Amino acid sequence: MSENIQIQISPEQAVDLEWIEKTLAARLNRGLGSFKYRWKKRSIDARKRDIKVNATFEYISSEEEWPVLHYFEPKKVNLTKEIHIIGSGPAGLFAALRAIELGWKPIVWERGKDVRARRRDLANLNKNHHVDNDSNYCFGEGGAGTYSDGKLYTRSKKRGDVEKTLGIFVEFGAEQDIMVDAHPHIGTNKLPQIIVAIREQIISSGGEVHFESKMTDLAIEKGEICSITINENKVIEVEHLILATGHSARDVFELLHSKKIQLNAKPFALGVRVEHRQDFIDALQYHGRKSDEYLPPASYSLVSQVNGKGVFSFCMCPGGIIAPCATENGEVVTNGWSPSKRNNPFSNSGIVVTVSPEDFENSDDPMVCLNFQKEVEQKCWEAAGGTQKVPAQCLQDFIDGKVSKEFPRSSYQPGITSVDLNKVLPEMISQRLKQGFLDFNKKMRGFISNDAVLHAPESRTSSPIQIPRDRATFQHPDVQGLYPCAEGAGYAGGIISAAIDGMNCVDAVLASEELRK
Ligand SMILES: Cc1cc2nc3c(=O)[nH]c(=O)nc-3n(C[C@H](O)[C@H](O)[C@H](O)COP(=O)(O)OP(=O)(O)OC[C@H]3O[C@@H](n4cnc5c(N)ncnc54)[C@H](O)[C@@H]3O)c2cc1C
Repeated sequence: MSENIQIQISPEQAVDLEWIEKTLAARLNRGLGSFKYRWKKRSIDARKRDIKVNATFEYISSEEEWPVLHYFEPKKVNLTKEIHIIGSGPAGLFAALRAIELGWKPIVWERGKDVRARRRDLANLNKNHHVDNDSNYCFGEGGAGTYSDGKLYTRSKKRGDVEKTLGIFVEFGAEQDIMVDAHPHIGTNKLPQIIVAIREQIISSGGEVHFESKMTDLAIEKGEICSITINENKVIEVEHLILATGHSARDVFELLHSKKIQLNAKPFALGVRVEHRQDFIDALQYHGRKSDEYLPPASYSLVSQVNGKGVFSFCMCPGGIIAPCATENGEVVTNGWSPSKRNNPFSNSGIVVTVSPEDFENSDDPMVCLNFQKEVEQKCWEAAGGTQKVPAQCLQDFIDGKVSKEFPRSSYQPGITSVDLNKVLPEMISQRLKQGFLDFNKKMRGFISNDAVLHAPESRTSSPIQIPRDRATFQHPDVQGLYPCAEGAGYAGGIISAAIDGMNCVDAVLASEELRK
């Protein structure tokens, strides 16, 4: 049986295997070679100048073998009962894997293209500013997760089994390190292969994955889901439907709303994406030291309260790139990603303000937050002269209300348009952002300067709509057999929690079948 030992070591010692073995032997009072060890948990503590790595090692005696853990046990499912899943994001794919584990056949319908074809549409978006409504940074195989940053940190430990979810990522090709690091990260360059491996598993187990297959309608009879329509012409009978369409599928929200299926407006957050030089952030966070082979590019997490609302950093990407994440022409949206090595010279993060239905007069309109989100994205597109050249302003100029004359280099490929964001963003956002930045500047000296550039808007932080579901059965209160799932329905935020919710929805489908027997 393995046991754990915790020690605090320097970043240099953390990569010196000989030193670690000798130190553990001394601490455990055992001879060298009499035990085996491996990393269990690793986090960096950079609060003091003397930066440390908090290390937990797991060890067993040299005669023992490490237990082989399997986080995914496939079954053959082609002749078994079916679960239809709309969307192949982390929620849809992990729902499909869970269905296979439990002996059900998953049938996944995805509006976008497979990973490889999708890549061409992203290149077209970056170069020619053309947004394909079904194939972009949010839509396509793997959903918003494929070309995401791939940070796998989640606070929602109580929602399900985080270790199992990370373990499945490793079984499909992620590095073992994600099981160890306190803030695990895969990186945009590595995610697509993992997504393809998951799809291949679903198909080889007897499941189905259909690309360029958009759910355009659904039919309900006597309060039960009975069919879906794909691409406006193919009607498919369904008994169980997991709706995992993500927070950007506005047409799905509109479809449900038009059918008078209950939806609720939900708080979300909106603001800008700020970009600094990574070496500047490293120096601030590492007390003047640079990131190197021992210390990864530094990140930050900032939060403040301004006039009763949270202003906070969101999805910070060290060594990253700002990406154009619109899902339609006529809007501008930003988000960030980074490769596994996080080796770009830029650091970017969303800095956003909480928006709630109560901020608006018609607060009981389920679409109120979504409409606000849409308006801001469209206004940014107009400010960008009807292109994807994102409205931008240097941070000090934003504070001073001046249009920037010169910019440092931006990582955002389609280009930037110089504007006064105070005039483009709604006042309730821009005023709070300003105060938030002033607060952050006290915590991170020099955060505000004209070497930092704001790109607007960061608007797809979470869903502005909740699709209600029963706490116990996970089914929509008005529609039996309809399982609103993950980020788009308001039950997840990020890759891990979306994947967990996908698996939980399948468990709920099986539980409801058990009850019917
Ligand atoms: C650039 C970027 C970086 C990110 N970085 C991180 C990060 O580092 N860490 C993190 O945890 N999260 C990150 N995220 C967010 C993360 O990707 C999402 O939280 C996660 O993908 C949500 O999973 P989901 O399955 O609920 O929905 P999604 O991933 O949005 O998937 C929904 C899928 O449904 C499909 N769909 C929509 N409508 C239909 C329809 N009518 N018919 C058929 N298919 C449909 C879409 O095409 C899409 O593939 C990032 C997102 C982006 C865009």
